[in-house]
Amino acid sequence: MSWDFETDPEFQTQLDWVERFVDEEVEPLEHVLGSPWDIHDPRFTTLVRPLQAQVKERKLWACHLAPHQGGQGYGQMKLALLNEILGKAHFAPIVFGCQAPDTGNSEILSHYGSEAQKKKYLEPLLANQIVSCFAMTEPQGGADPKVFKTRAVQQGGDWVITGEKWFASNARYAEFFIVMVVTDPDAPPYQQMSMFIVPKDAPGLSIMRNVGLADEPVPTHGYLKFDGVRVPAADMLGQPGEAFAVAQTRLGGGRIHHAMRTIGQAKKAFDQLCERALSRTTQGELLADKQMVQEKIADSWCQLEQFRLLVLRTAWRIDKHKDYLKVRKDISAVKALMPKVLHDIAERALHIHGSLGASLEMPYTDQLVLSYHMGLADGPTEVHKVTVAKQVLRDYVACPDLFPAYHRPRAKAAAEAKYRHLLG
Ligand SMILES: Cc1cc2nc3c(=O)[nH]c(=O)nc-3n(C[C@H](O)[C@H](O)[C@H](O)COP(=O)(O)OP(=O)(O)OC[C@H]3O[C@@H](n4cnc5c(N)ncnc54)[C@H](O)[C@@H]3O)c2cc1C
Repeated sequence: MSWDFETDPEFQTQLDWVERFVDEEVEPLEHVLGSPWDIHDPRFTTLVRPLQAQVKERKLWACHLAPHQGGQGYGQMKLALLNEILGKAHFAPIVFGCQAPDTGNSEILSHYGSEAQKKKYLEPLLANQIVSCFAMTEPQGGADPKVFKTRAVQQGGDWVITGEKWFASNARYAEFFIVMVVTDPDAPPYQQMSMFIVPKDAPGLSIMRNVGLADEPVPTHGYLKFDGVRVPAADMLGQPGEAFAVAQTRLGGGRIHHAMRTIGQAKKAFDQLCERALSRTTQGELLADKQMVQEKIADSWCQLEQFRLLVLRTAWRIDKHKDYLKVRKDISAVKALMPKVLHDIAERALHIHGSLGASLEMPYTDQLVLSYHMGLADGPTEVHKVTVAKQVLRDYVACPDLFPAYHRPRAKAAAEAKYRHLLG
């Protein structure tokens, strides 16, 4: 028997330090700095670099990676416990060297990159000397990659890329882009595309517009144009037609890491909801004494605890199987649940805070938009629900009969036959 809901004391000591450090040193950063990915802002150097040094000293840097990649090899379970704390603060992932999309891009590079590419891109990425961008979505559709049109054609030893990419987060700060491009439109749909590394200063690559989201301090989602961008054949990651397999390398981890951090955001809203309920009086009694407020508290606690347990079990199963495909159903389930959990708890926190909650002086409208972000990025909720359902149904078989075996008259007849020799 090895069911256990406790953290080992040694790691708990680390988590306690992280909790204090994030509360005292990291959360305040979002009130004075711009985007966490704007690493060349001199204020970033002043405020964030010393914190990163402390994290490295405590051996908590890039915990998502194996030791040979510069990480700690903690596995997903410990990472979940860590990430749920980091999720509270916008700057925490970058302070701890585990921010998206660099995490996923580094997984791709360490898997598919050549030694030269690792030296040029992966090493500085892991050290946060540079940041990166993942460009897959196109203006005409993101949920269905079969509609992608950005095309690369071979010219001599190079590929020449033409097309547009949409909502490429952090494009304006990225040193390089990992881009999914159609290389063989006549191949079967899931073998038409290949993945390329494109450096930011490649001639023909431009950011047409940076699209903003809610109260993000700077618009950071790039609308990109590739106008005959020439890349050497060596800068294809994986084999021609292998882009979906390459993308999967980042998506499994990326989705569960978002879920871990979402626990932190939802917990933050929940804690504030509870504090407010105990602090605000109306019609002569505390909000906390009103049953409909109590219902909001109870619903939020149950939702958050259920979600957290599923995320932790999914992390545990990833560590156990060491194969994202075997945990596909679980990952899609947490991906599908995460937007609703954050949305519902942020919405209740907003409502309990009244007009203050609806204002930009509180984080709830931002969290509500974040919940939609979580429901879209790395695949819309509907698509993940379909995955869960399909995976679940694999464990069932159809009944060939008109009435199923569990139909009460059939079950009764079977039971009577089974016990007839005893009951007469
Ligand atoms: C904050 C944010 C950051 C992002 N960052 C990146 C990034 O860095 N790089 C990148 O490449 N992309 C990024 N994206 C894009 C994201 O991957 C897409 O938004 C997502 O894939 C959906 O594509 P779409 O926006 O074109 O919506 P569409 O594909 O048009 O889908 C719209 C809606 O249609 C419905 N729908 C779609 N498919 C189905 C289905 N099979 N069944 C039922 N309903 C369905 C869903 O309600 C869905 O939300 C980001 C998005 C957001 C919001």
